[in-house]
Amino acid sequence: MFLHGTSRINNQGHLEVGGCDTVELAQKYGTPLYIVDEQLIRQRMREFVRAFEKTGLSFQVGYASKAFSTMAMCRIVDEEGLLLDVVSEGELYTALAADFPAERIYFHGNNKSPMEIELALDAGIRLFVADNFVELEMLQSLALEKGKKASVILRVSPGVEAHTHAYIQTGQEDSKFGFDLVSGQAKQAALLAHQASHLELEGFHCHIGSQIFETEAFQLAVEKMAGLSTECYRQYGIETRILNMGGGFGIRYEAADTPKPPEHYVQIIASAVTRAFAHFPRYPEIWIEPGRSIVGEAGTTLYTIGTVKEVPGVRKYVAVDGGMTDNLRPALYNAKYEAMLANRAKEEAGETVSIAGKCCESGDMLIWDIRLPEVRQGDLLAVSCTGAYNYSMANNYNRIPRPAVVFVQNGKADLVVERETLQDLISHDRIPSRLKKKSEQIHSIK
Ligand SMILES: *Cc1c(COP(=O)(O)O)cnc(C)c1O
Repeated sequence: MFLHGTSRINNQGHLEVGGCDTVELAQKYGTPLYIVDEQLIRQRMREFVRAFEKTGLSFQVGYASKAFSTMAMCRIVDEEGLLLDVVSEGELYTALAADFPAERIYFHGNNKSPMEIELALDAGIRLFVADNFVELEMLQSLALEKGKKASVILRVSPGVEAHTHAYIQTGQEDSKFGFDLVSGQAKQAALLAHQASHLELEGFHCHIGSQIFETEAFQLAVEKMAGLSTECYRQYGIETRILNMGGGFGIRYEAADTPKPPEHYVQIIASAVTRAFAHFPRYPEIWIEPGRSIVGEAGTTLYTIGTVKEVPGVRKYVAVDGGMTDNLRPALYNAKYEAMLANRAKEEAGETVSIAGKCCESGDMLIWDIRLPEVRQGDLLAVSCTGAYNYSMANNYNRIPRPAVVFVQNGKADLVVERETLQDLISHDRIPSRLKKKSEQIHSIK
């Protein structure tokens, strides 16, 4: 397992993160436990910001809430001066409840409800990333109703789709997100937004995928967006003030992953913009909105090992006290993770095992074929790189309570999300009176 950020192995042979011994964290907070390296989060944010500062261009770095959204996280995003991208009423509410300034929040999503739009307009958010024609109509009419002007940038589907190690160019991009570029819909939407009385069109957005290592894809996407900007400028006099290039920068989950540092992606995007927008009176303000590359490597999940089962000559299954409820990614898209024994971190690997979750699904396997020291019931397993899309995708399958989250820094641990209780699990359940036990029915009639 890689030791990202402040992770290290201490003199007792225990994994330590943010100066905190993970064995002690397990004793104090229980397992499964999400441990988040606060310093590493801040470091990643600053790396993106510094890289842009070096370019001399105007920019904004946003953080994509969906990767990991809690009130404490919103405070860090605010302290570091980033914008915040939200995709739902819940993410917006979380940010506002954490006193995140509305004027640095912007709203994404392909199906914003009228209520969500009203909430955001009332809160006074920075802008909407409009996704489709229905939304443009809603934005115009709700802004009109409220006597406000809604700032928008348009989400464009640029016909560039990137995957971990490759990208493809598609003609007509078949995507549920955004206005299609090739068919001319993006241009049509731009004219509509430009002419709408209560909309302020400020620019364009695209997001070409996630966990991308292929930097050429970003260059190509910038060129396509510049093409759209040029047409909109020449034909309609629309100025692209903001160009948001999305997120998707890759991180290192396993040895085969070789991501570039944040600075590299920023340089690629910035120099592509400098070239492709050279003929405009001004460069657009460049926005990016990483999620995974800010929080992914900062997260470690700590589990207690329970049962161990050997199928002779086939495989040894080692079961932990969590699984697809706290980390859905292996089951959802075969994501790979690395792990170590947190309480015996210095010991040599002696066997190959597979890590199983505790849910009633054969697909609930966290890691296949990992080398570990000979494991015993009660050992602590640390899975690295779980900061992004783990807590935010956590669920209560099998009625398993969601784990606690602690932020660690400088030898101190702060609980930022409490572990769900059994009472929490049933707190929204209701038993209709006809199903109540007879004794209670009689009682309620009285
Ligand atoms: C998911 C998403 C992001 C963040 O992606 P990461 O891979 O976590 O960096 C940014 N923008 C949009 C529109 C997204 O859908």
